[in-house]
Amino acid sequence: MGPTPFLLSNERMNMTCCTEYVYFGNGAYAMKVRVMGDCTLHITMDPSECQRNKCAACYRQFNKKEHLVEHMRVSYHSVHEPMCGICGKRCRSFESLRDHLLGPLPKAECERVFRDRGCTFCLNILSSRSALRFHQDRCQLSRGNNGVLQRFANLGIHDNLRIESEKARTVALACKMVGGGSDGSLDLCARICIIDEYENILFHSYVKPQLPVTNYRYESTGIRPEYLRDALPLRHVQRKIQDFLCNGEPIWKIRPRGGKARVVVGHGLDHDMKCLELEYPHVKIRDTSIYPPLMKTSKLSNSLKYLTKAYLGYDIQSGIQDPYDDCVATMRLYKRMRYQPHRIEDYPLATDSQNKNNFASWRQSELEKMSPDELLAISRCDYYCWCLDSKDVA
Ligand SMILES: [Zn+2]
Ligand SMILES: [Zn+2]
Ligand SMILES: [Zn+2]
Ligand SMILES: [Zn+2]
Repeated sequence: MGPTPFLLSNERMNMTCCTEYVYFGNGAYAMKVRVMGDCTLHITMDPSECQRNKCAACYRQFNKKEHLVEHMRVSYHSVHEPMCGICGKRCRSFESLRDHLLGPLPKAECERVFRDRGCTFCLNILSSRSALRFHQDRCQLSRGNNGVLQRFANLGIHDNLRIESEKARTVALACKMVGGGSDGSLDLCARICIIDEYENILFHSYVKPQLPVTNYRYESTGIRPEYLRDALPLRHVQRKIQDFLCNGEPIWKIRPRGGKARVVVGHGLDHDMKCLELEYPHVKIRDTSIYPPLMKTSKLSNSLKYLTKAYLGYDIQSGIQDPYDDCVATMRLYKRMRYQPHRIEDYPLATDSQNKNNFASWRQSELEKMSPDELLAISRCDYYCWCLDSKDVA
């Protein structure tokens, strides 16, 4: 919210034309003065009290400093939040940034600039319209370009998951489910794909579920009974994948950073892992369905189909679905997030022990003396920003 304008009609003052902020005698108000043709003054009031209590990240204003401190305590603002390239406002998610830029109630100035030279996929602002055209040609992607491999994949010959593929430190995994149970609503994994960062297929196979299939969901899976008859049994696949992900490291030894265990990218991996009866530590999982910057403003998950259309610019999951397409889409979303140009603090997370006391209640009076910028400087993120993974990439 900007300053509240009000009009002093027909006030005639002996002043020179001025568009800067002017401080009047008592220092309590800053006023923006514009002298119109007939010398009517439009004066914008901008109470400095409010300025002092304005959040430096989301620009919300508070009547009292203690309210701003309380807001900072629970907001977890940080340099890792999506930011408006025009006014610098920080948003919780790209969806709320999209609302800020494009509506339904956009900020007028930001909307104007965005419509002129903003990228509708990554929401960045370019320096000119021609820079935007050049940028968007690269920013908008098309469906998986790994055509030949994909065709091989459909023949089901990529079931030899080689543990030694050293380069694949980060992989994407996706499954397609058929139905089990009396009404066919029980999800059973019948197809699985794993790719590396460069969209090469590492594993692509049909899987034979342990329970009888009651609905092949052919319209979306394209799976026929004969594809599963001689497919790899679930147990076998599960062990293979578990070994591949852990990469020689005992599961209890896996740490957030370093080590040999692989990072797994996916969408709704909790469900996939459950269907595969796989256990894998959360610290190595990058799930586009529960990553705060990619979630809805309402904090619900977006579908992968929506995210792919909105942030990568192409369609997936129409007609018969191949888990390879899901792998490619999630990997691309992950890489886009990983390459966000954020400043990386020494201790980036609110949960880091170094940050435990940043907003402790016993510091209240000290916090109330700090400026909004100083408060933001000690505020930390409450989720693991994927840009932090870029530290591990050579
Ligand atoms: Zn805020
Ligand atoms: Zn970040
Ligand atoms: Zn803005
Ligand atoms: Zn872009």
